[in-house]
Order: sequence, then structure tokens, then C-alpha cells
Amino acid sequence: MRPYGCIADRVMLRTITFWNRGVTCVLISYGLKNFTWLLGILSVRGKKHGGLGVFSAKSWNYAAATELLWMIHLKKDLLWIKWIHGNYLQNQNVWEIQGRTYDSWMWRQILKVRDMLINKFGSTDNVKNAIEGCFSKDKLKLSEIYMCLIQPMPKVSWFSTAWDEFLYPKHSFILWLACNQRLLTKDRLCRMGMMSSNQNQCVLCCGHQLETSKHIFFECQFSADVWNRVMDWMRFRWRSCYWDLIISWYSCNLKGRGPLRKLKRMCLSAAVYMIWDERNRRIFQGKMRDPSQIFRAIRLSVFTRVLNVSSHAHMIDLLEVL
Ligand SMILES: [Zn+2]
Repeated sequence: MRPYGCIADRVMLRTITFWNRGVTCVLISYGLKNFTWLLGILSVRGKKHGGLGVFSAKSWNYAAATELLWMIHLKKDLLWIKWIHGNYLQNQNVWEIQGRTYDSWMWRQILKVRDMLINKFGSTDNVKNAIEGCFSKDKLKLSEIYMCLIQPMPKVSWFSTAWDEFLYPKHSFILWLACNQRLLTKDRLCRMGMMSSNQNQCVLCCGHQLETSKHIFFECQFSADVWNRVMDWMRFRWRSCYWDLIISWYSCNLKGRGPLRKLKRMCLSAAVYMIWDERNRRIFQGKMRDPSQIFRAIRLSVFTRVLNVSSHAHMIDLLEVL
């Protein structure tokens, strides 16, 4: 590294390092290291696209470097950019200049990001067009660059079913896992080589059925009993114990902000959570409850939520007539 490269590199390093959201992303990513390993790339998708909406630190840093690249391209009136043009570029184009072995680490990283962008978008002109599409009110938006860089995914229909703000966060999370078929059911554990195939029976029923996500929600005799009680309580006119049909019905017919629809969404998330909890209690604690006790726990969680959130007080009347 050339000695006079240090000051400009520090300025660039600060620009990247102290970018608030970038730092937040790094911390979140560090804290959730094992968690993201477990869920793969799923968690960094947006919630509407089936993920958890966690920002990818890697993609966010690429976006921040892309913004620096664009500032260099525009020859912004900043000291460190003037320094870059005077010492590294020397009247050459930032999109064409080749890195040299004695260039500073930071400059080589920016050139690496430039090469990655050209490779991703096909040509320099395409990169420029993509970045120009990330402006909002004449300001380059880092979040737009980030969205441009991450892989676009189709939206999921069950977004409003799983992520209603009225739901308990822990219920939403288990429902989200169930919708993505990511709960660690015994069939998955067998496929992952963490359990032998003679241990894969459902613990909720005594029919020696294979424990899959669809069996637990709600084809299993035990969980179907619980779910039928919930549907009776909520006076469902349409009924099913098949997961795909239930999720499809909720996604199409139980969207919106009506109080009864909110209650029905809450009942589904609470039922999924309580049944999964019961399955775990039986496996890890050897404790058992019957369907009526699970149903009572679901009702209690719904009443507790409604009675403790003042903005949903109008739902109390509705619950009383059900
Ligand atoms: Zn079962």
C-alpha cells in the first residue's frame, strides 16, 4: 500500500463502516449467524416474498460500494473523490481502469464490486441504467440499489395471513415456518440424517403416522379435533383440515381488516403454535394434554390479546356473541 493512500482509504472506510443501516445489518447478521444458517437464504427475503425481511449485510455492503462508485463516476465535489481522480484514475474512466497489485485494499474492493456489477447486469451501460433507476426525488436511494441487487422473488399469497400485526409475534413466526415447510418435523430430520426412520411417527396420534408438516396441520386425528373446535367457535361456514386448502382459503377470502377476519387469522396462528408446542412438550418433557385443553389455551390466548390491546376493544363484543 502506498503511504499517501492511507488518509483517503480511511475516509472511504468511514463512509462505508458508519453507514447506519449497514452497521445494523452487520450486527444483525452476526447475531443471527446460526439462525440464518438454519433458514438458509429464506430469512433475507422480504416478508411479502416469504422471508423474514432481514437485510443481507453482504448485499447491503455491495449497495454501499455501488453508491461510492457512482459518486466517483459523477466526480462529486468531495475531497476524497478528487483524491481518487488525481491519484488512481488520472483522467481514466472508473468503469474501465484495471486494478494494480500495489493499489490499496479499499480501492481494489471498489473495483471488485464494479466488476461484479458489470458481470451481473451484462454491460457498463446496463449498470448505469440500473443505478439511474434507483433515484428518488433526485437522490440516489441506497435501499433501491439494494433491492436492485438482490434476487427478485415472487410474492407469497399468505403474507397477510402470517404477518398480521394483531398476531403474537411468536405465533406469526411458527406460522411463517409452517407456511415455508421449514418446521423441523421428523420427516425432515430423517431426510437430514439426524433421526432414524423407525422414530418418525407422529406423537400426537396413535395411528403410527409419519410426522410431516401437513399431517400435524391438521390431518392428524388429534390436531383435526383441535382445529374443528376452533372452526366451530369461529362459526366457519367453509371447513377443511387440509393445509394447502386452508392457506389458500385464508389467502383469498380472509384478507382485509375486518375484526372477524382478524380473529380468524389469530385463531389459525394460535392453533398452529399450540399444536406445535404440544408436540414439543410430548417429545421433550413427556407431558400430554388433550384436545379440549389445547382449545382452551387457544381461546385464552385470543381473549388475552384482545383484552390487552385497547385498539381492539371493539372485538370483545364480537367474541361474546361467538
Ligand atoms: Zn398424528
